[in-house]
Amino acid sequence: MAIRLGVSAPGASAARSPRRLVLLGATGSIGRSAVDLLENDLDNFTVAAVVGGRDPQALARVALTVRAEFAAIRDPDGYACLKEALAGTGIEVGAGREAVIEAAQRPADLVIGAIAGAAGLEPTYAALSSGRDVALANKECLVCAGALFMGAAKRTGARVLPIDSEHNAILQALGGAPPAAVERMILTASGGPFRTWSKEAISRATPEQALAHPNWAMGPKVTIDSAGLMNKGLELIEAHHLFGVAAGKLDVLVHPQSIVHGLVAFCDGSVTAGLAVPDMRVPIAHCLGFPHRLKTSMRRLDLAEIATLTFERPDFARFPALRLAVDALAGGAGLPTVLNAANEIAVETFLCGRIGFDGIARHVAEACEAALKDGTAREPATVEEALQLDHVVRERSRTALAAETSSGMITSW
Ligand code: MG
Repeated sequence: MAIRLGVSAPGASAARSPRRLVLLGATGSIGRSAVDLLENDLDNFTVAAVVGGRDPQALARVALTVRAEFAAIRDPDGYACLKEALAGTGIEVGAGREAVIEAAQRPADLVIGAIAGAAGLEPTYAALSSGRDVALANKECLVCAGALFMGAAKRTGARVLPIDSEHNAILQALGGAPPAAVERMILTASGGPFRTWSKEAISRATPEQALAHPNWAMGPKVTIDSAGLMNKGLELIEAHHLFGVAAGKLDVLVHPQSIVHGLVAFCDGSVTAGLAVPDMRVPIAHCLGFPHRLKTSMRRLDLAEIATLTFERPDFARFPALRLAVDALAGGAGLPTVLNAANEIAVETFLCGRIGFDGIARHVAEACEAALKDGTAREPATVEEALQLDHVVRERSRTALAAETSSGMITSW
């Protein structure tokens, strides 16, 4: 569904020049939602560049839809196809790592950082280091190299605007208050499909059951992470870096309706919260307009219709992944990178049907313990080091899980 946009900020006028955007990850889930918001009203935006991974046809379609000036594809093999698809359109075409970095650094008011996974680190860091404001959807940037990313933003004066619904709600609820005024920062979790399941039933869950998220339509990796609350754990790590709040002040509340996305409790007893219908276009629109407000035509929140909002404490016994993430945040250094990389490989292995759902958290716990023991989990001093650690842990996890599954050690279902 296409959404009509218009700027309705106080003081906004037709005379304000269009915002220049770069879309990193233009063909993914967040990229497509951003394009959906942009496509009917490009008067308020110009798109300096779009970047995709390995689907040249999809990237060409996005480039044409948003009238991008430059389209860069990460996979060099996609160059010829992209060039042919955009021939005669006047859109510049590039491919490979350098082209992606160049796109990330093109002059722009806002870079949408929505490349998924470790591939997002380098270009997003390049954008921030060039002083570009970044609307961040990539988790790994903050989980694996949070200090480096926020350090780059501080150095260049760039802003990091979170696209993730929980962090975006908190940014809005904070209202510019300093970290010292915050007593608690609370991220909500829907609880996923296993919220009411027993520990035993969760351990036997199939990929199909884990992929059936009640409220959000997302990619398979993040949906599996949500089912085990690992996603919320990764979001706690992100919140720590984004808002400069100590780990001990961060909390999770299970809220099955997914209407309240984040809350901030202040030192004077006040609590503010960010509410919206569960639609990623809401936080994306907030970032696209920031600090102004765009006018969108999405479904509006009707609290009387919803009538009841409920909240529960998370159950660490049934969702051990959340505890592992809390421990990794407390452990600091490279431990969150180990947690994230081991989790990604374990989720892949679960989706292939080779380990049970409980095998994901079990593998992550073992990977974190092993890294602590042998000193692998050092604080990365550069983005390259963060990527290297990520790579090392992935390889180890692949080897360990292959050995376990071939010997039949993990057969929960
Ligand atoms: Mg989220």
